[in-house]
Amino acid sequence: MTLARTWSVGLAGVAGAVVEVEVDMSAGVPGVVLVGLPDAVVRQSVDRVRAAVVNTGASWPMRRITIGLSPASMPKQGSGFDLALAAAVLAAAGTVPADAADGLVLLGELGLDGSVRAVRGVLPAVLAAAQAGHDTVVVPAGNAEEAALVAGVAVLPAATLGDLVDHLSGRARLAPYVRGPLPSPAPVPDLGDVVGQAAGRRAVEVAAAGGHHLFLTGPPGAGKTMLAERLPGLLPVLDEHAALEVTAIHSVAGTLPPGAPLLSRPPFESPHHSATMAALVGGGSGVIRPGALCRAHHGVLFLDEAPEFPRATLDTLRQPLERGEVTIARASGAATFPCRAQLVLAANPCPCASAAGDAACTCSPLERRRYQARLSGPLLDRIDLRVDLPAVTRAAWLAGQDPPEASAVVAARVADARQAAAARLGGAGLALNSQVPGRLLRERWPVPRPALALAERALERGLLSVRGLDRVQRVAWTLADLGGRAVPDGEDVAEALGMRLQRVAA
Ligand SMILES: [Zn+2]
Repeated sequence: MTLARTWSVGLAGVAGAVVEVEVDMSAGVPGVVLVGLPDAVVRQSVDRVRAAVVNTGASWPMRRITIGLSPASMPKQGSGFDLALAAAVLAAAGTVPADAADGLVLLGELGLDGSVRAVRGVLPAVLAAAQAGHDTVVVPAGNAEEAALVAGVAVLPAATLGDLVDHLSGRARLAPYVRGPLPSPAPVPDLGDVVGQAAGRRAVEVAAAGGHHLFLTGPPGAGKTMLAERLPGLLPVLDEHAALEVTAIHSVAGTLPPGAPLLSRPPFESPHHSATMAALVGGGSGVIRPGALCRAHHGVLFLDEAPEFPRATLDTLRQPLERGEVTIARASGAATFPCRAQLVLAANPCPCASAAGDAACTCSPLERRRYQARLSGPLLDRIDLRVDLPAVTRAAWLAGQDPPEASAVVAARVADARQAAAARLGGAGLALNSQVPGRLLRERWPVPRPALALAERALERGLLSVRGLDRVQRVAWTLADLGGRAVPDGEDVAEALGMRLQRVAA
């Protein structure tokens, strides 16, 4: 006979499923049996829960306790089930009314002293609970802000197991968390800080408008990182759905910045080239964590000194970037994360990376070619824009050009261009020029032949591959969208070609 029941949520990636926790007690040798595919951490949870119950002043039933977690087919990972287990055991033991926890979804880890500790993944868990029709969740006090992002759910923050016992027994109810207004997002670096580098500034604008992957080369100090960091500020602010998606990923990753419960700006992730595959894509033992690629969902993944990344690591990125999601399989189960990120690669022109430019370079032509060849292959093939940045010379710096445009000005142009592209592509279920498959591009949105003449000559001379020609056309469309033209003209094609050939010529 089931004596008590409550609810929690299991996560696979950012997908949550409500888990029913049932506790049955019977006479017999005292002990705890846990059924329903619990992982090692959940099994340890029984010991934590027992200590927390005892240290809260309640007694642990000296009976045979069977705890069932269902659906049994779903793997249960992590420590977030502690609070639900404790509530169900106390309800079954009669410490609190038997049905007291039945209507609740409980999330949280217990400390041995009975404190309720914050856990990762509360936002996707509460979203899953809401979708399953539950309307009240108990969460660790530290996760209340995040949980309260979900509309239509009462969030009861609990600081200790004692608080929960008081609530369930009716002695003192937990007060629902009332969320204040969301703080405005932190300011992002502004394009107005980048002096000179007209080509680089143009490249990030085009990348933002068309969603194109971008490859920046140039000597150290040319501003590659500065430009990449400013790309998210040119992208539209995330809508509510996208913001919740991104926030859910960072919740599971444990990278939500304190005081900013909702990530409403496109994220920027820049893993170091020594990062492991797991750090870059996702993995880990036990609960599967999203890597930098997934944390950059709806934002920018920046790989500085890209040739220093192991080639196998870079090639791993290709398929997820194409599909917009990555599935990571471990013995404990599989998790799928969305990863619709924009890629920015940066590279020095050669391994010696002389800031003074080619004049001071000590590399042989062979060494330079080898260094650049490290990046050839399937990943580079996906990149529409390649821009070679010159060193910022003292003369250019002192020449005192017009003050550079601020991000807000450029972002407004980007927004208009994106709107034009969406209006054209929306019927095909696409939003950005970079998303248009080659065949569809040639069939439905070919650049008019006269405008394409320059690119066709490049094709004939072998400077451009057929796929390269597709990329030139995609970028030409973005340039036309930015310029307010209905179709690309010859100048758009020439500029797009310039953004394609610069590296090939090197
Ligand atoms: Zn060199």
